[in-house]
Amino acid sequence: MSKGNIGVTSNNIFPVIKKFLYSDHEIFLRELISNAVDATQKLKTLSSVGEVKGDLGDVRVRVTIDKQKKTLTVSDHGIGMTAEEVDKYINQIAFSGAEEFVNKYKDKTEAIIGHFGLGFYSAFMVSKKVEIFSQSYQENAKAVHWSCEGDPEYTMEETIKSERGTDVVLHIDDEFSQYLEDATIEGLLKKYCKFLPVEIAFGKKKEWKDGKEVELDEENIINDVNPAWTRKPSELKDEDYDKFYHELYPTQMEEPLFHIHLNVDYPFNLTGILYFPKIKSNLDVHRNKIQLYCNQVYVTDEVENIVPEYLTLLHGVIDSPDIPLNVSRSYLQSDNNVKKISGYITKKVADKLAELYKADKESFAKKWDDIKMFIQFGMLTDEKFYEKAKDFALLKNLGGEYFTLDEYKTKVKEAQTDKDGNLVLLYTNDADAHYTYIERAKAKGYDVLLMDGELDVHCMSQAEQKAGDEGKLRFVRIDSDTIENLIRKEDAAKDTYSDEQKEGLRKAFEAFIPQAEKLNYYVSCEAAAADALPVFLTQNEFMRRMKEMSAHQQGMSFYGQMPDQYNLVLNTSHPLIQELVSKMTSEQVEEEVEKKDGEETKKETVTKTVYKLDGEDERLKQLIDIALLASGQLKGEALAKFVNRSVELL
Ligand code: ADP
Repeated sequence: MSKGNIGVTSNNIFPVIKKFLYSDHEIFLRELISNAVDATQKLKTLSSVGEVKGDLGDVRVRVTIDKQKKTLTVSDHGIGMTAEEVDKYINQIAFSGAEEFVNKYKDKTEAIIGHFGLGFYSAFMVSKKVEIFSQSYQENAKAVHWSCEGDPEYTMEETIKSERGTDVVLHIDDEFSQYLEDATIEGLLKKYCKFLPVEIAFGKKKEWKDGKEVELDEENIINDVNPAWTRKPSELKDEDYDKFYHELYPTQMEEPLFHIHLNVDYPFNLTGILYFPKIKSNLDVHRNKIQLYCNQVYVTDEVENIVPEYLTLLHGVIDSPDIPLNVSRSYLQSDNNVKKISGYITKKVADKLAELYKADKESFAKKWDDIKMFIQFGMLTDEKFYEKAKDFALLKNLGGEYFTLDEYKTKVKEAQTDKDGNLVLLYTNDADAHYTYIERAKAKGYDVLLMDGELDVHCMSQAEQKAGDEGKLRFVRIDSDTIENLIRKEDAAKDTYSDEQKEGLRKAFEAFIPQAEKLNYYVSCEAAAADALPVFLTQNEFMRRMKEMSAHQQGMSFYGQMPDQYNLVLNTSHPLIQELVSKMTSEQVEEEVEKKDGEETKKETVTKTVYKLDGEDERLKQLIDIALLASGQLKGEALAKFVNRSVELL
C-alpha cells in the first residue's frame, strides 16, 4: 500500500470543492457517469483500431445503491486505469494550477465553477470517502484500489478485480442521504443521462401486475443511446422527429409545427434539432425549454446566453462539445464559440423558414398564426434575422388572406395612397368592436388588416421606421379618425359652416361630455360621409400606440400614465348635425381683445357672432351616447339612462 498527498500544496482544496465549486451538488452523478461513458467510448475506439482484441462483452455502465453500506457505485467496463494512471490523472492532473486559481478567485464562486476538469472530485461534494477500483484493459496490468476521505491524503494499493473497467464507490455523507434513494437517483439519471451514447443501467425494469409493482429480470436502461439529433436527417421521417419531441418533453401533448435539424462541423461542432411549438400565449412559452447537451451529456436548459432570446421560444436540443460545461453565465456570454453558435442558429432558423415559405406558401400561411409571435420577436430584437424574415413575415387581412408587407403594399397602393403620397394601411385589433368603422372603410374600397397579436404594434412601428420618409408608410387603426381623414383625398368634402358656427356647436356638445378620471374627450367638427354616424369617437393613433407599447417596455411609463384621449367627432355632413346647426341662434357680443401694435399692446373692442343651441339637450345627450355605444364605451348607469331616454324619445 502506498500513501501520498494529492498533488496540491494547499489543504484548502477540499472545502472549496465541497462548498463552492459546484452550485448544484447533484451534478456529481453526471460527472462520474460522463467519465464512465468516456472510458467505455475510448475502449470502443481502441477496439475498432485493433488495439483491443476480441469481443468487448458487456459494456453497460451500472449505477447501484447499497443502503446498508450507504454507498453509491458507478461501474463501467471501459479502459480502466493502471496504478500509474490513477496517480497521473487522479492524484496529479486534476489539481495542477488549482491552488493559484482558487486563491485568486476565492470570492467569485462562479468563476471557479467549471474552470477545471475537476469532474471526478465533485464526488467529494456528497461523500465522506471515495474509492476507486480499477482494472486496466492493458495486458498484465494489476488492478488498483484508491481511497480518499476528503482530505489531501489518499491510499493506493494493489487489488484483485475480475472484470476490466472501473468502479467508483461513493460513501455518501449523512447530510446527503437523499442520494441513497432510488427515486432521487433515477430522477437525476433521467435528467442528465437520457441520451448518453452508452447504455446506463439502474436496477431492474418494473411492471404493474395485479395492482402491484413487480421487478422483471431485465435491467432498467435509462437512456436512448441513439437520439434523433445524432442521426442523419436522411434516415429520419417526420414521425421520428415527432416521436423524439415527445421523448424530450414527455408531458407535451401537442405536436410541434415543424423542425430544423442542425448539423455543423466548421468552424465549430454543433448538432441538434429545434422544434417550432404552437405558441398560444406568453404563458405557454417557457415551459418546455431548449436543452443543451455536450456530447450527449445534458448540461442545462438555461440557454438564454447561448441562443438569441427569441430563439428561446423554440423547443429542442442543441449539442456541442464546444460549449463549455459548468461555466458561469457571464463566462458563456463572452465566449467566442458561444457567440458564433448563436449567429449560426439564427441564420439556420431564418433560412429554414424562408425555405418553408418558398416551398409552400399556403401551408406556411396556415401555420403563421402559431409562429408569428416567434418571428416578430426575432425581427424586433435581431437585425440580421429581420433582414431575412421580412420576406416571409406575413400580414393577415379581415378576409383571412395572407401577404408579405411588399405584396400587401402592392395590393392596396392604388386605393390607399393619400394626396400627400402616404401609403396608409388600415388595421383593427378587434373586428367586432370596430364594426362600424370597418364597414365605412370597405364602402370606400379599402382593405383592413387584422392586427391582434401581442407584438403587432411594435412591428408596425418597425415597418414604418424601416420604410423611412421615402416609403411614407403609415399604419392606422381604423377607429383613429374618420376614414376621410385617415386617407385624405384631393376631393375631400368640406362643409360650408363658419368657424363661429362650429364653435357654437362644439360648445353645445361639450356641456354633456361624460366626465371620468384618466379619460378625456375632445370635441371636433369634420365633414365625414353623409351616411356615417352623426357623432362618433376616434382615438389618435400615435398616442394610443405609445400607450400600448409602454405596457411592454421600460422607460416609456410617461405614456402609460397619460389619460386615454378620444375625439368626439361631429359629422357636419350628416343631416342630423346639419339640422342642429340650422336651429342655432346667434347674437352679437362685444369682446375686449389685446392687440399688438409694434412694441405696445393695446386693448380693443371687437364685435363677435356667438352661436347657441337651446332646447336640444336630450338630443345632444342621445347623440353622444350613440357615439359611445358604437365604440363599446357606454356602460353601467350611462347605458341604462340611454336605454330609458331612447324609449321616451320613441
Ligand atoms: P476530466 O474527465 O474532465 O478529464 P476528471 O477529474 O473527471 O476530469 O477525470 C480525470 C481523468 O481520470 C480522466 O480524464 C480519465 O483519464 C481518468 N478517469 C476518470 N474516471 C475514469 C474511469 N471511470 N475510467 C477510466 N478513466 C477514468
